[in-house]
Amino acid sequence: MKTLEGKLAVVTGGSRGIGLAIARALAGAGAKVIIASRDGEACARAAASFGGEGVACDVGDPASVASLFARAEALGGCDVFVACAGVASGSLAAQVTRDELQRMLDVHYLGAVEGARAAAAQMRGKGGGAILFVTSIWGLGGASGTLAYGSAKAALAHAVKVLALEWARDGIRVNGLAPGFVETDMTADLPDAAKAKMLARVPLRRAARADEMAGPALFLCSDAASYVTGHTLVADGGERAR
Ligand code: NAP
Repeated sequence: MKTLEGKLAVVTGGSRGIGLAIARALAGAGAKVIIASRDGEACARAAASFGGEGVACDVGDPASVASLFARAEALGGCDVFVACAGVASGSLAAQVTRDELQRMLDVHYLGAVEGARAAAAQMRGKGGGAILFVTSIWGLGGASGTLAYGSAKAALAHAVKVLALEWARDGIRVNGLAPGFVETDMTADLPDAAKAKMLARVPLRRAARADEMAGPALFLCSDAASYVTGHTLVADGGERAR
């Protein structure tokens, strides 16, 4: 059965990596999927691979987010919103600049929250919907070099709970997915020694493939999780079980 037949999904950060894997899974479940990133052509190419639509959007720019959701409105309104857009930052606290701290908040936190507010406005008119924030295990616990990135993800993890509570009455579920170490462009440039150190902490002894985030995301966005809201599902190969 196509569990998301007739639904419209919007996935930011959908041009590659985890976002693209999630977009493909949502499309496979029957949803019409709009993927968005700063590179509209890359999105259009990626969307063509599963019959979706690609839209250029910088989630750090409120006007750009508004225009993404104007497109969703024109297609009948958003039923599923996945905020997956993100960039890495590994600067130590003594060196990280205020601009870097602000950029991480703009992209990871404000981009996701503004997207969720626009999505929720459309979902209310449709009797509900599902929102998923892709956070990170680095937003659940502290680690050296994660002040900018991890703090933004921690804020997002908190937003999952607040929005779930405020919007439950509207039939809108809000959940988080916190990946551990996933092999994507974001982690490709990490030095081998840093990768080895991170993998040594993972009980499953390997990094995840991007497509291994698709199943948990699809579950949280579908009616299979109809009684799940305000929850962050950790998909980290067991790392946080320690
Ligand atoms: P990725 O392969 O580098 O993909 C990042 C995506 O975000 C791309 O589609 C990128 O496209 C888009 N993006 C970046 N900045 C954007 C902006 N300002 N506006 C709109 N789109 C933007 O990285 P990934 O590993 O799949 O990461 C996806 C999400 O998972 C991120 O939120 C990341 O923090 C999170 N995560 C990743 C890992 C990991 O180990 N890989 C672990 C935990 C959490 P453009 O460059 O075209 O904009």
